[in-house]
Amino acid sequence: MAYSIRCADSGGDCPGEFTTETQQELMSHVELHAAQVHPDMEFEGETREQLLSFVRTV
Ligand SMILES: [Zn+2]
Repeated sequence: MAYSIRCADSGGDCPGEFTTETQQELMSHVELHAAQVHPDMEFEGETREQLLSFVRTV
């Protein structure tokens, strides 16, 4: 099993898509991606919870 997330699912127009072995690793990728591509996004509190709702297991 792996964890997957698509950046576009969060409402943005972005081709970013990540698949990792663990949810913790997935969040690390998302944070790095967001810092580089979406510097205006914030990943605290509710936003982080919302992101987790977009995570799919594959
Ligand atoms: Zn993105």
